[in-house]
Amino acid sequence: MRVSTMMYKLFLHREKLDEIIVFCRNAYPNEACGILAGRGNKVRKVYAITNIENSPVSYFMDSREQFKIMKDIRENNLSMLAIFHSHPSSPAYPSGKDVSLAWG
Ligand SMILES: [Zn+2]
Repeated sequence: MRVSTMMYKLFLHREKLDEIIVFCRNAYPNEACGILAGRGNKVRKVYAITNIENSPVSYFMDSREQFKIMKDIRENNLSMLAIFHSHPSSPAYPSGKDVSLAWG
């Protein structure tokens, strides 16, 4: 099944992408998750969040970390731009569960 998503472009520097990749590799074999924050469509900060499900096929963000991060985003005058997570063992598109959680 193809999933139509509300896609929009985000811009991030190579170093930010590297931060995401390193974080996802460190979480392997489990899924990694986090938040991208910035201004407009430019990513300024990458926040890694603990996946409390410790699972290779799903994730659930630690809500305390998430709360602290939202505060930090506000204090830095940034906006939350996206939530990201890795798929270490499943295809690189949203799973049925992802879709139901994101847009359900
Ligand atoms: Zn997923």
